[in-house]
Amino acid sequence: MRQRLSVDAYLEGILSGDRVILSRGITLIESKLKNDRQLAGELLNKLLPATGKSLRIGITGVPGVGKSSFIETFGKHLTSLDKKIAVLTIDPSSKKSGGSILADKTRMENLAHDPLAYIRPSASGLSLGGVARNTRETMLLCEAAGYEIIIIETVGVGQSETLVRGMSDFFLLLMLAGAGDELQGIKKGIMEMADAVAINKADGKNKVAAQQAVGEYQKALHLFPKSDSEFATHVVTCSALENTGISELWELIREYQNLTTKNGFFEKNRRNQNLEWMHDHIRQTLVDQFYENASMKKALKSTEKLVSNGKELPLAAAQRMLEIFLKTKS
Ligand code: GDP
Repeated sequence: MRQRLSVDAYLEGILSGDRVILSRGITLIESKLKNDRQLAGELLNKLLPATGKSLRIGITGVPGVGKSSFIETFGKHLTSLDKKIAVLTIDPSSKKSGGSILADKTRMENLAHDPLAYIRPSASGLSLGGVARNTRETMLLCEAAGYEIIIIETVGVGQSETLVRGMSDFFLLLMLAGAGDELQGIKKGIMEMADAVAINKADGKNKVAAQQAVGEYQKALHLFPKSDSEFATHVVTCSALENTGISELWELIREYQNLTTKNGFFEKNRRNQNLEWMHDHIRQTLVDQFYENASMKKALKSTEKLVSNGKELPLAAAQRMLEIFLKTKS
């Protein structure tokens, strides 16, 4: 393991936009070691005044919809406007399979070489809750390092998009024309969370179908109640391959930002997200303390046997475990 720096060394490096120190800072906040957590906590506290000023954009869509191609084209557009952008990925697949849908190294190669862009995949082997905590803290570090736009990417196949929605200002859903909602695995609830739906791959033979899909999705969205943001969910087309619809989408996001800044939703949303963040952290810490406690580990092992053999009821066993846990705390 590489040596840790002092809090001030992390602080200075990150505030001055040093990418190597930023990466080391992220590795620190990803660590589960007690000393590291403490150091990370101090660092985050000191960085706090420099955070919160970015625009946080969540992006989701099923594998193959073109997320990484889109982020690359979109990201290049932003850096051409001289914006510093950070791309974070939340990948719920990396825990189960050991492999990962999102983390393959050849993704976003152009963007990865752009001095104004910083790309960081999520740490693998964590629970969704752990990934969420890491991503939020990573986001803060990137903001302190001067990244003005944070893109948080996730595969739209499970609960992770709700998490990403909960930490972004603007939520973009990428879809394909003619694939059918069911085939695309997108639940209605996810469409409801979106501030914009972009039909990607609107190029070549697909162009007409993409235009038709706009109408269909608009009709479907019409059935949803209006969002608190007062921004009507837009459906647009784009092609990451041909770089069309990309600058328009950025304009749309700016429109959203202007509107919600004026009507107060932007701030209100951030405040609610902070509360959610706090409660998530409490829950996550309790769960970690429970499962990482040595005597709990032992007690759970024997109790699991009793429950799976039908010798103890799950609820009674859970209650007994919680009582043991509370005793270790008192
Ligand atoms: P992801 O799994 O959502 O990240 O999707 P990728 O970005 O890896 O793209 C999946 C496939 O779709 C790749 O073969 C891309 O070249 C292709 N693709 C992505 N965007 C476009 C697009 O705008 N137009 C066309 N025709 N193909 C695209």
